[in-house]
Amino acid sequence: MNAPFQSSEADMPGSARRDEKTIARALFRSMGVDGVVARTQDYETAVERLAALISRERDADAEVLRFPPVMSRKQLEKSGYLKSFPNLLGCVCALHGSEAEINGAVATFEKGGDWTASLTSADLVLSPAACYPVYPIAAERGLVPALGYVFDIAADVFRHEPSTDIDRFQSFRMREFVRIGTAEQVSAFREVWMTKAQEMARRLMLPFAVEQASDPFFGRVGQMMAVAQIQAALKFELLIPVRSAEMPTACMSFNYHKEHFGLAWDMRLASGEPAHSGCVAFGMDRLAVALFAVHGIDFRRWPGAVRQVLNM
Ligand code: 5GP
Ligand code: ZN
Repeated sequence: MNAPFQSSEADMPGSARRDEKTIARALFRSMGVDGVVARTQDYETAVERLAALISRERDADAEVLRFPPVMSRKQLEKSGYLKSFPNLLGCVCALHGSEAEINGAVATFEKGGDWTASLTSADLVLSPAACYPVYPIAAERGLVPALGYVFDIAADVFRHEPSTDIDRFQSFRMREFVRIGTAEQVSAFREVWMTKAQEMARRLMLPFAVEQASDPFFGRVGQMMAVAQIQAALKFELLIPVRSAEMPTACMSFNYHKEHFGLAWDMRLASGEPAHSGCVAFGMDRLAVALFAVHGIDFRRWPGAVRQVLNM
C-alpha cells in the first residue's frame, strides 16, 4: 500500500507519455462542451476490450445489472448524496406546464429569451455513480442472505465538473463490483479486489500506485468528512500517471461504506444488524485514456503482451 511511484517518464513502458492534445485529437471529437466528447472507433475498441477483461475476472456468482444514465431523484436523495456532493449533481428538468405554458417557453426562446426559466425538475437525476440504484433493489428482497450479494453493474455517470483535462469528463462510464453482506465479507472482498486490480494493471503494463484517498466532499464540513474517511481507511485508489507523475489519475477506487446504505435502505442481515457494503469502481474512460497515454495512440502498436491480455 502507498507504494511510491517509480515512474519518472523514463520508467514508463513504451516511449514517454504523449501530450494531452495529441491524445485528445486522436481519440475524441469535441461536442462543444468541456468534458463531454464523442469517442472514436479505436477508443471504443479499447473500452470494449477492457470491459471484457473485467468480465473475465468477475466472481462467478455475481449478478449482472446494467443501469441507464438516469436514476430516481428520490432514491439519490435518500442515499444522502446531497449531504456529500451537491455541487456535482445533475438533475433532469422538463417543461411540465400546460400546452399554453410550454408554447410560452418556446416563444421566449424564439424571441432570444431564456426558455430554461420555465423548466422544473423531473423525478430523475443523472446518476453520479453506478452503484446508487443497486442498494434499494437489494433491500427490496428482504433480509440479506447469509452469503450476501455480489453485483456486477455499469452505467454512464455524470458529474458537473467541466474540464478540458483528458482524465476528467462530465459524462463517463463506470463499471462496479458491489458487495453487500457482513463487515467481514465486505472487507475480504475489497482486499481481494485490491490485489486483483493491481495484478490487472501489471498485466496491462500500466505504472500505478495504490493509495489511501478521500472523496471530494463539498464545502468546509466536507473537509472534515474527508479527514474522517481517511482515518477510517474507507477509500483506496489505484493511481496511474496519465497526465503527469506528480498528479496521477485515480482510475479505480475501492470503497467501504460500512453500514451507510444498510441504514439508508433498512437493509438488514439475518442477525437484525444493518448490512455493510463496499464497491470496486473501474473508471472505464480513465483506464482507456491511461492505456493510450502510456502505450501510444495506435493500439496496433501497443506491446504484444498488452494486446494479448486485451484480446486485441
Ligand atoms: P469515485 O466514485 O471513486 O469518485 O469514482 C470511481 C471511479 O470513476 C474513479 O476511480 C475514476 O476511475 C472514475 N472517475 C471519477 N471521476 C472521473 C472523471 O471526472 N472522469 C473520468 N473519466 N472518470 C472519473
Ligand atoms: Zn460504488
